[in-house]
Amino acid sequence: MKKVVKFGGSSLASAEQFRKAGDIIHSDEERRFVVPSAPGKRFSNDSKVTDMLYDCYHLAEQGRNFERVLGDIASRYQDIIEGLGLSISLKEEFAVIEKNFREKAGENYAASRGEYLNGIVMAAYLGFEFVDAAEVIRFNDKGDFDSELTNQMLGGRLSGMENAVIPGFYGAYEDGRVKTFSRGGSDITGSIVARAVKADVYENWTDVSGFLIADPKIIENPQGIETITYKELRELSYMGASVLHEDAIFPVRREGIPINIRNTNKPEDGGTWIVESTCQKSRYTITGIAGKTGFCSVNIEKAMMNSEIGFGRKVLQAFEDSGISFEHVPSGIDTMTVFVHQDEFMDKEQKVVSAIHRLADPDGIDIEGDLALIAVVGRGMKSTRGTAGRIFSALAHANVNVKMIDQGSSELNIIIGVANEDFETAIRAIYAIFVISQL
Ligand code: ASP
Repeated sequence: MKKVVKFGGSSLASAEQFRKAGDIIHSDEERRFVVPSAPGKRFSNDSKVTDMLYDCYHLAEQGRNFERVLGDIASRYQDIIEGLGLSISLKEEFAVIEKNFREKAGENYAASRGEYLNGIVMAAYLGFEFVDAAEVIRFNDKGDFDSELTNQMLGGRLSGMENAVIPGFYGAYEDGRVKTFSRGGSDITGSIVARAVKADVYENWTDVSGFLIADPKIIENPQGIETITYKELRELSYMGASVLHEDAIFPVRREGIPINIRNTNKPEDGGTWIVESTCQKSRYTITGIAGKTGFCSVNIEKAMMNSEIGFGRKVLQAFEDSGISFEHVPSGIDTMTVFVHQDEFMDKEQKVVSAIHRLADPDGIDIEGDLALIAVVGRGMKSTRGTAGRIFSALAHANVNVKMIDQGSSELNIIIGVANEDFETAIRAIYAIFVISQL
């Protein structure tokens, strides 16, 4: 068995956290490839090293004094090094970074140094080899991640190696310029490494014991999710679950490698398994509930719309022309509704309305704002009768007016639109009917 383990920023924020990660790695010799993030927050109003690096670089870019902030960053690492009793020094590395900041090496380079330095510390602490991600993770000229070339280069480099530490979050263009993924991108690196070494499992160690059925800010002590499929997670993550970067499932998904989300502070917890498919039934009919407020519905009416070929395309073109992406498009016989993010749409709404008139000649357009969308997701829905019935009777009993319903033909999820102010009540009602009533 071969495991790739990724540790998030809070799992590596201090020497004490590093020790926990080290113990986890050494307790299982199958944990051979390690992907660290940059040091995160040690306490709630602490700063993440990545944020400090962005701030520091912005000062450098403006020609202002950045040495003090860089010094603060250096002491974060020095505390870890001393706390672990290591004899390495990052002095020369910091001299190079300072010089490159002065020469305006770019924001991506700056941000990537958090993971780069933490990788050096981690490799020294574990006694593993350090492999710089800039040498093995490749972006193309357009700035897109080059998955196939990376897979070849990284697979080649790691084959035959017993262990290695590969820093998360960044790679490089062919000419060596560093490029980062979006924030939280070390999760993606872990997945890329797992694919390249054909790992049996990708363990993602963080500060929670996996995914929860619902947001703990809304539901007190929600139950955890033991097993979730990649598809279910997509439906939930795009609605705002924040444990794992939403792009992190793609590399491992190609090889059917499961992801196990684990808690560095509670390694005894089994966490959540993310898998391609499973015959394990989830404990409840639903696997999870997630949602977001701040949507707007644009309701377009036109008599005989159902028989007009191309109507939908013309309407959607009006959104595309203004660079607005849509979330859902439920439709009736003579109506079509487009759900969009209110903050993206607000400034452009009149432009979109006139474009719809110009392109599709509707009878009327009606816009409603301050809406929330809730996704109720579960592979168990397919084989269970009455799921939708239970959701809507729970919402009716909670006095929540349902404004929109959308169920994909996969029967994996039901999307419900409600007013922003009903958002939390609706989630509590759905959680109660599927989970609390089954406890
Ligand atoms: N350190 C980076 C961030 O704060 C990447 C990561 O932690 O995954 O976003």
